[in-house]
Formats: sequence, structure tokens, C-alpha cells
Amino acid sequence: MIVVMEKGASREQVQHMVERVEGLGLKAHVIVGTERTVIAAVGEKREHAKESLESGPGVASVLPILAPYKVASREVKPEPTQITVGSLSLGAGSVGLIAGPCSVESEEQIVSTARAVKAAGATALRGGAFKPRTSPYSFQGLKEQGLKLLAQARDETGLAVVTEVMSTDEVDLVASYADVLQVGARNMQNYRLLEAVGNSKRPVLLKRGASATMDELLLAAEYILNEGNPNVILCERGIRTFEEHTRFTLPLATVPYLHHKTHLPIVVDPSHGTGHAYLVADMAVAAIAAGADGLIVEVHPDPERALSDGYQSLNFAQFREMAERCRRVAEALGKTMAPAELLTR
Ligand code: PEP
Ligand code: MN
Repeated sequence: MIVVMEKGASREQVQHMVERVEGLGLKAHVIVGTERTVIAAVGEKREHAKESLESGPGVASVLPILAPYKVASREVKPEPTQITVGSLSLGAGSVGLIAGPCSVESEEQIVSTARAVKAAGATALRGGAFKPRTSPYSFQGLKEQGLKLLAQARDETGLAVVTEVMSTDEVDLVASYADVLQVGARNMQNYRLLEAVGNSKRPVLLKRGASATMDELLLAAEYILNEGNPNVILCERGIRTFEEHTRFTLPLATVPYLHHKTHLPIVVDPSHGTGHAYLVADMAVAAIAAGADGLIVEVHPDPERALSDGYQSLNFAQFREMAERCRRVAEALGKTMAPAELLTR
């Protein structure tokens, strides 16, 4: 249910209603909108809860939330959520550009990439330190050493760091270095991991599972939100279909669909979504045109020699050209695609 407070409802009245909601055995999420404050009351259905809340002080109305996901839903929060962390700002008209290698490989590789992507307009640095690889014999990432190199690249460039966390027992470690925790496609339905990142203070970039539906993606986001972490960025990264011309099939209708259903920002990953470097820039431009709030793109100083995903990685010059094309489209749509102000961590 959503408890919609009256326009001038006082803080005390909101707090009172939070306590009433909790007294019914439900969880209360307070969402302060531009127009008014609402309280999402989530949990198992309670008899007469609606009637009991309707009579509360400062309450305008109590409405059911029809979507299966609650806090993620547009019904609860009609205005888009903007997430800002360090140099990265996404949503509500700001377009973020997250770029960097698939895996962190060396100091030289990550620092030179950070400098190059920043100069081209990237607002965050990506790079995997803990890598989910299909084969156990493939490069598994530099682990904590990789996290240290990412932190060094952030110190040298000011770019916020986005990196994947694969397991619940590594959340604290990764969160101590990262600005944004990435949950990978393979872990989208690892519910204990979703709860663990929900309990961390860091924003989360949640990638769509390769066979997950939109409802499953949004319910996965709901696990994170339900732990009290409001900063979830959804990521369309392509799904598995019968097609073989691309590594995955990248559906861009999910971008306007998700904007319709949720207030959370949506980024698109044209690198994993296509699996071919020569297709990345066009799909990045298409994603921005479809309304994406950001991109996450693989960039490597020497893609041919990359330890992972080199075939879908752009070199510095290709990335610069892609970023410029995307910026022109974003500006045509009245959005900004410039580095946000650097905030302190
Ligand atoms: C990645 O971003 O390098 C990655 C492994 O992505 P995904 O989880 O989408 O496969
Ligand atoms: Mn990759």
C-alpha cells in the first residue's frame, strides 16, 4: 500500500504514520517527492490495514500498489530518481558514462584507461577485480589487488569506481574501495547477495540476468531497496535468444518500458549486449536515443591483448568518437552528458 500524505503534512505526522505502518507488521519506506511525501507500506497483506491507516493524521489517501514490485514502482514515486556518487550522476536528465576495461589487469592499464576515458567525457570508471568467468581456467581477476588499482585510478582522475561484487562475504571488502557495487547478470537472482548489497551504503548497479524478465529484474531491485538502500541503477545488458549474430540480443524497448514502470535510472551495456566492438558505438547512440540514463562500456588500451572481452572492447579513439556522438544525441533530447560536480565520498 501507499500512504499518501497531505501536501502540508508535518514531519511528526509522517513519523507517526511510519510507526503506525510498522505497528501493523509492515515495513515503511518514506519517499519524499517534489509534490508530497508518501510512505510505501510493504510486507504481507494485513486485514483492515487500509482502513486503519486512512484515518491517520495528515493522511490524504491509502492506495494499493498494483505492481508486484513496490518501492521500485512508479506508482510509489512518479518522479525519476537521480543517483549521484562522486563524479557520476544518472537519471532525471543527467546521462552518466561509465567506461573502462572488462578486467583490471595492471596499474598502467587501468590508470591510462581512466585518464583516456575521463578526457573523452566518461563520468565513472568500470573495471572488474572479481570476475565471473564461464570457464574456471579463464583469468579470474586481480581480486583485492585490482580493487587497490581502481582506487589508485580514482585518486589520479577523480572518477567514481564501479566494480563487481560476486559474493556476500566480499561485499564489505569491495565496498571499502568501490563507489558503486555492480551485481552481475549471473548473480541477478542471488537473493542473499542482493540483501547484502542492500545493506551496504553504496549505490548498486544491477545487471539484468541473461534470461530474466522485466518483472524478475524489478523484483531483484526490490530486494535491494527493501533493505533500505534507495540507490539502485538498473542495467540492460542483453538476453540469450536463438540469435547468433551477436553475443547476446540487446533489446532497447526495455529502456522506455522500464521508465514507464519504475523511477530508477536505467543504463545500457552495449559491449556485452552485442559482443562485437564494431557494433558498440551505434548501439550506444541508440540506447541514448531510447532514453537511457547512462551507458557502461568496455574500453581497453589494446583490445587485442585484453585478458577478457577484448573482442567487444573499444580502443581510446573509438570510445572518444562514441562519447561525442552520444553527447550530441543526449543534448538534442535536452539532457546533460557532462561530468557532474565532484562530491566528496
Ligand atoms: C562485466 O560487466 O564485465 C560482466 C561480467 O557483465 P555481465 O554480468 O553483464 O555479464
Ligand atoms: Mn566483460
